[in-house]
Amino acid sequence: MPTTSLVFPHPAWIEIDLRQFKKNIKILQQFLGATKICFPIKANSYGHGLVPMARAAAEAGIDYLGVSCLQEAALLREAGIKTPIFVMGAIHEAQIPALLNYDIEISISSRYKAQLLAKKCEELNKTAKVHIEIDTGMQRTGVRPETAVELLHCLQAMPQIQIVGVYTHLATGDMPESPIAYEQITQFKKFIETHIDDQAVICHVANSGGVCHFPEACFDMVRPGLLLLGYSPSKIAALQEIKPFFSVKAKIAYFKVVAQGQGIGYGHTYHAKTATRVVTVPVGYGDGYRRALSNIGQVLIGGNLYPIAGTVCMDQFMVDIGNDAAYVGDEVVLIGQQGDRSISLLSMAELCQTIPYEILCGFNDRLPRLYFDDEQA
Ligand SMILES: *Cc1c(COP(=O)(O)O)cnc(C)c1O
Repeated sequence: MPTTSLVFPHPAWIEIDLRQFKKNIKILQQFLGATKICFPIKANSYGHGLVPMARAAAEAGIDYLGVSCLQEAALLREAGIKTPIFVMGAIHEAQIPALLNYDIEISISSRYKAQLLAKKCEELNKTAKVHIEIDTGMQRTGVRPETAVELLHCLQAMPQIQIVGVYTHLATGDMPESPIAYEQITQFKKFIETHIDDQAVICHVANSGGVCHFPEACFDMVRPGLLLLGYSPSKIAALQEIKPFFSVKAKIAYFKVVAQGQGIGYGHTYHAKTATRVVTVPVGYGDGYRRALSNIGQVLIGGNLYPIAGTVCMDQFMVDIGNDAAYVGDEVVLIGQQGDRSISLLSMAELCQTIPYEILCGFNDRLPRLYFDDEQA
């Protein structure tokens, strides 16, 4: 993730309200009581920006940060983040020394990796903190429950290794009442009840869906990403004030009047039905704004919804505002609220026939991110 100390004025940007993020954390903390929270901050914190989100999470008292790889973990440590960090998923042999040096907790799901890790620890005179991943049905990474006992004993016999956690990941956590999720939870529960008697070992299962739909999946810690970003699929009353805080905005770059019947944009996929006013918005798929929104997406200008006219280009797209007035420099909302209307990420994901995660992760660093936070003392 390139970071630059140079910040130039740019006519489009992402707004992130860290006050709402911290509020979301507080609401979940109150709801969960003693259960710890690991915030999955992978993929640039789902497009929200890695380091600012980690700082805010730490300020709100988050217990753990979950990343997908060494690079994310190292960026956090280099930025001075002291919170425990755990790499979810498999590690690569070549990453072990850096993981140990940065004090990153490691997921282990095979005897092979356990032995590599122990060997490196010995060479470097370090100890490693590990979480055993058990595959109860996701078929991604993780040791099968049948062989988990053997791996557990193998790790317990390694003086360089400290087992700090045991976890599994749900394949259908977002589907209420899913029998697959119940089966996974049951298998996990059986394993920890039979084999984990150390109270200090953190048992964790639930992602956002798990927290919202399967209270029995909460154990010692939960790992909700999307939920803490405000996209709660939950009907739980106590979680209703969890809200999103990610908006995408731009300023109108150009205004023109287009004649009746004139085609607009690449391929002329849109034609003006009557003479109409068209404005150009300086955001495109090169920023992560999805091309799938061509001719079906909408934006907010002056509190009204207007349709995207033609295909989304790499750096800009056009909007048909009919007979309404709008001026160069006026604010356009692509995701978020304007007046009493809003464009939600979830409806955008539906239009794009994808999941909200993919839309969020798609926003890169060309749009600057503006963070709103309370003044720090
Ligand atoms: C990404 C991830 C999560 C978070 O998932 P959400 O659906 O965003 O809550 C939790 N656990 C693991 C292992 C993950 O990879």
